Amino acid sequence: MRFVSFRIPAHRVPLPKVLLFEYQFMAKKLKKPSAKKVSAKATKPTKKAQSPKKNRYVYYFGDGKADGDGKMKPLLGGKGANLAEMTRIGLPVPPGFTITTEVCTYFYENKKSYPPELNEQVKAALAKVEKSVGKRLADRDNPLLLSVRSGARDSMPGMMDTILNLGMNDEVVEIVAEKSGNPRFAWDSYRRFLQMYGDVVMGVQKREGEDHEPFETVIEEVKHAAGVEKDTDLSVDDLKSMVEKFKKLIKERTGKAFPQNPHEQMWGSIGAVFGSWNNDRAIVYRRKYNIPHEWGTAVNVQTMVFGNRGDASATGVAFTRDPATGEKVFYGEYLINAQGEDVVAGVRTPHPVALLAKEMPAAHKELLLVRDHLEKHFRDMQDLEFTIEENRLFMLQTRNGKRTGFAAVRIAVDMVNEKLITREEAIKRIPADSLSHLLAPIFDRQSVKSAKKIATGLAAGPGAASGHIVFNAKDAVEMAHKGQPVILVRVETSPEDLRGMIAAEAILTARGGVSSHAALVARQMGKVCVCGASALKIDYVQKTVTAGDLTLTEGDFISVDGTAGEVYAGEVKTAHSEVVQVLVEKKLDPKKSQTFQRFASLMSWADKARKLEVRTNADTPDQVATATAFGAKGIGLTRTEHMFFEGDRIDAMREMILAESLDERKTALAKLLPFQRQDFIGIFQELKGLPATIRTLDPPLHEFLPQTESQQADLAQKLGVPIEKIRRRVEELHEFNPMLGHRGCRLGISFPEVTEMQARAIFEAAAEVQKKGIKTRPEIMIPLVGFPKELKLQIEIVNRVASEVAKESKVRFNYLVGTMIEIPRGALVADKIAEDAQFFSFGTNDLTQTTLGMSRDDSGSFLPHYQELEIVKNNPFATIDQTGVGKLMEVARDLGRKSRPEIKLGICGEHGGDPESVKFCHRIGLSYVSCSPFRVPVARLAAAQAALEG
Ligand code: ADP
Ligand code: MG
Ligand code: MG
Repeated sequence: MRFVSFRIPAHRVPLPKVLLFEYQFMAKKLKKPSAKKVSAKATKPTKKAQSPKKNRYVYYFGDGKADGDGKMKPLLGGKGANLAEMTRIGLPVPPGFTITTEVCTYFYENKKSYPPELNEQVKAALAKVEKSVGKRLADRDNPLLLSVRSGARDSMPGMMDTILNLGMNDEVVEIVAEKSGNPRFAWDSYRRFLQMYGDVVMGVQKREGEDHEPFETVIEEVKHAAGVEKDTDLSVDDLKSMVEKFKKLIKERTGKAFPQNPHEQMWGSIGAVFGSWNNDRAIVYRRKYNIPHEWGTAVNVQTMVFGNRGDASATGVAFTRDPATGEKVFYGEYLINAQGEDVVAGVRTPHPVALLAKEMPAAHKELLLVRDHLEKHFRDMQDLEFTIEENRLFMLQTRNGKRTGFAAVRIAVDMVNEKLITREEAIKRIPADSLSHLLAPIFDRQSVKSAKKIATGLAAGPGAASGHIVFNAKDAVEMAHKGQPVILVRVETSPEDLRGMIAAEAILTARGGVSSHAALVARQMGKVCVCGASALKIDYVQKTVTAGDLTLTEGDFISVDGTAGEVYAGEVKTAHSEVVQVLVEKKLDPKKSQTFQRFASLMSWADKARKLEVRTNADTPDQVATATAFGAKGIGLTRTEHMFFEGDRIDAMREMILAESLDERKTALAKLLPFQRQDFIGIFQELKGLPATIRTLDPPLHEFLPQTESQQADLAQKLGVPIEKIRRRVEELHEFNPMLGHRGCRLGISFPEVTEMQARAIFEAAAEVQKKGIKTRPEIMIPLVGFPKELKLQIEIVNRVASEVAKESKVRFNYLVGTMIEIPRGALVADKIAEDAQFFSFGTNDLTQTTLGMSRDDSGSFLPHYQELEIVKNNPFATIDQTGVGKLMEVARDLGRKSRPEIKLGICGEHGGDPESVKFCHRIGLSYVSCSPFRVPVARLAAAQAALEG
């Protein structure tokens, strides 16, 4: 007998042949390695790994050596690859071996059998493990205990099964009890094994009609009989009786006895793990996260280490940095005298990892070294699992940790400053969307914990807001005017609600998707928005909103988290993002905000890398100011019609539409001209010489008209006309399919005087601003062009007005006239159109609708199903349909350049703020993208990523 006790004496060779001091020594040697060297050195695969023998199914790891390495995730699974990698870099990993994902594939292709070579290979690997640790499976003197763990290429947390303490049986438990001098630990391990094996391998699970897992029921019975609450308070006798009851339960439920032979147990467990790849949970998970079924799982068989050996033992999980904030603090929790999933299972409340410094100072110190070592090696924040056995630390898992957008930015930028990664790596690593988290207001973390969640919907406008409930735009404006924060709660929104939306802190709708009016406007304004919170019943008459049995009334507080898509009753405290405080509000000293500084560094790195210019979609000087503060280099789209909803303008607009003769129309237009001119003056001044693409009137006219009886009566009175006349005109203007109706340049063709008024407003504004010494660069854009002649006619008007105003004001204009490419015909005859157009801007919202023949506003009822069936991969209204719509864009680009090689190409659809679409725009060689102000940083980062991806 080699060992006197089961416990390995500290001076003898421990399980992995890495003593604490050795490990510390190695960690020191690796102290300040250049980022590149470390990974190259440590991940260099052995010759074996480089040219794996044919039909090699088993990879050993232990004693500082491993057949595999961290790059072999497809073959070894994420867990197996990183266990090998951790072993290679000298971390204390219990020895074991990985059975490859190829065996899983074979298993399913061959009626759940194994490749003939597997048995021998497992035997050989097991012998190596046995030799390394000086114990053998099923041995009477030194029994080896194992864990059998699943591990797919991408982590599927909790989806598949793990079996611990394998090798236990009626005989082994006694030996372990004696050798460890700790019978409680031995029997605790046995009962855990019986439970896991019974559940996972033998299928003893909850039956229909049962409320609890049968093993849990037994545990409760035993605890109750013993009069204890915590499982750690159970005596050896309690545990013994639990073991008996477990064995009986297995026999009763399966008709089979629990297998006493450890080898049989091992193969049973391996089979169960491969089998679990196709359990319902795992299948549903893979579907949700788009993990191919063919990938398969690997199986890891590993020497057990024990966190349940008493008060000097523990098990825990940790992140090397805070995954919520990104702060460089060690973040995690552990449980003393516990095993495996106890930490997450909630049987006892775990302790924060900081407390470990007090409870187990030596292990804690070592864990901190490991933390440092892991980060230096993997060069990313790690999510790790560890076990402490009698004060000795063992590493059981590591992987790149999941994190919030906020943390993603902080961690990457900090790591550049720590010289752990390069700037390019930081740019590539941060999901571009993360930046919207950085700009959004936030809920106070304490405050949200005590709030009551009443509904969930689509996270349409990131950020958090709290305020009084209002149900219409008018009330929103009035209450906001009094200085009250309001939340506009609507079934859905329309352009009529715009003023209310501006006044509100957040918009909450019960209906509508990510591209609904509410969502679109919210994004453009950077407003917090949750839409489609279908659990809410909104009653405009009673002025109530009901969720379940809770009814809130106008004026009550409600809170909306547009980042998470959640709605809370009552008030939750919020704070402005620091970036906005610095850049937009200019209230915060940039030097005082680390968040801002990280943002600014990242943006400057991105700007160096990118080729694509970023503009903004903005209709007001305010939006321009915000967007340029975020780095926009001009306006890619000003929607002039949005200006007609403000104040009394809508009345003049309605008068114009109702006009029955040219003279009447001109009179009304003359009233609109000064408003519109004033708007453009504001915009040009704010742009300070940057270009502004301004679109002429686009939407169908009926959108401007009063639809309800009372609105019509109101207007009739204001205009001094009979209500009949208004009603008739509204009916006349009714269209069956307004999206394909009288809109876009068709309006300008029918009513040239509208285009003329708009052109005049633009140039008069430009003249006035230029006289103040500020340059202007108007780019007038004609929407919805399909026929070259449409554009020709509109351009004639614009050019004529430009020269008239130039003469009147004695100012020279630097302007362009171009068109939107937003219907397929326009793309197909782009060569002809480019003879007149100086630029193309892809209006991908309409181009998607017309190319797909699919209305954006009606697609909500079937698109989700399409995505589920993978007919479409993404929502084409959020991410450009590259193969269809994208093809048309390329056609238009090529044709356009044929007649006008220097033609300027950009995009102004909502897609301009979507990272995937931005990358596509880079690849097809556009010169700029345009997006809502708060998406500008996202687009800048995505453009840099596109350039670096090449
Ligand atoms: P999951 O993929 O669900 O996280 P794991 O295979 O990581 O499953 O196993 C879950 C837990 O079981 C681990 O976090 C660890 O606490 C415990 N465990 C697994 N293998 C061992 C082992 N060899 N020794 C001790 N505990 C282990
Ligand atoms: Mg795990
Ligand atoms: Mg359009």
